[in-house]
Amino acid sequence: MLSPSVLSDARLYELLLKFDGDLAARARRHGCRCGGVLHRADYARKPQGALSPLPAGYESRFSFCCAHDGCRQRTTPASIRYLGRKVYLGVVVVLVTAMRRGGGSVGELCAQLGVSRRTVARWRRWWQTAFATSAFWQAARGLLAGAIAIEALPGSLLARFDAPDERDRLIRLLDFIKPVTTSAWAHWEGISMGR
Ligand SMILES: [Zn+2]
Repeated sequence: MLSPSVLSDARLYELLLKFDGDLAARARRHGCRCGGVLHRADYARKPQGALSPLPAGYESRFSFCCAHDGCRQRTTPASIRYLGRKVYLGVVVVLVTAMRRGGGSVGELCAQLGVSRRTVARWRRWWQTAFATSAFWQAARGLLAGAIAIEALPGSLLARFDAPDERDRLIRLLDFIKPVTTSAWAHWEGISMGR
């Protein structure tokens, strides 16, 4: 049973940050496509929705710029903290939209977080449209046994992950869907997702 209490778990935010740090380190080691060295060029962020103080590092979405003069290409590694340009953390978006629709606790949680019903509706639409029709999902759904109910995303996907607790299940889902957070996807995702 999904519960908002996971958002009060300080360890959750440490794990998400560590995960993103590892993804960024790997991207940096890999370097630019042109062979150039990558320099840090993070995007500033002010993420909302955590019910526990965030560790240092959440003020930025990790990103890099190629140091080679003729290139200067940006490389933004995948993230399990930020879903596109939303102001709320990815884990908040997943949790709120996976909780039973119209249930008492989801209403209370949204009130506590200052998330409007309109925003929740927009997030649900995002799962069912931009996410469900993405090249990522078209490929990824084939890796999962049986059909996943699109109208019940992301709860129907979350239920597929085996994990000792809710925190790990959420992390596994965010890890699975992280290709949708890469720069290749972001250009059109930004249009349909808004914040
Ligand atoms: Zn380059």
